[in-house]
Amino acid sequence: MLIDGFDLEVFTPPCEPGAERFAARARLKAPIDAVLPYLNATLRGAVYNPAAGALTWKKGGHNIAFHAYEIATSNVEDRDAAVKELRGLVDLVNRTWDSRAEITPDLETHQRPTPMAVYKLLPRTNCKACGEPTCFTFALRLAAAQAQVEGCPALFEPGQAHVLEALRSMLIDAPRIG
Ligand code: SF4
Repeated sequence: MLIDGFDLEVFTPPCEPGAERFAARARLKAPIDAVLPYLNATLRGAVYNPAAGALTWKKGGHNIAFHAYEIATSNVEDRDAAVKELRGLVDLVNRTWDSRAEITPDLETHQRPTPMAVYKLLPRTNCKACGEPTCFTFALRLAAAQAQVEGCPALFEPGQAHVLEALRSMLIDAPRIG
């Protein structure tokens, strides 16, 4: 177990006074930076910054950050959910640390493709065949790895092979968000 003690704080972010969203922070008594490469290897959607000793992650629309002496979550709907999520994140760190012998640590920073970069490669006809109302909505889902290129039939029409290849190479490392 890496984390065996922390102080928990729940608050409304100062930039959103009166907002109906909550943030929570666990101040750790011992550093957890050693676990970050293992979290980077196992959490889809994580962005690891080794120089800053930080790893950020999005889960269910919540913004999560792991630092050496702190774990934080924000944009959570209520106080109890924020506490529950933070305790879950502490458990996640401990579980990951306990299984580190089975995980190859990942020290790379994986950049997600931007939705706009993905959108520029889509047909932009808004034909809705993918089940989304617009190509941009589909691009949002592709960038978050919540959809596959196979969902757009137009990409498989003759003459689109180069576009399809460009999209696939752009999305190959895109970890799933949410
Ligand atoms: S199927 Fe392809 S072209 Fe049609 S809306 Fe979806 S992404 Fe756009």
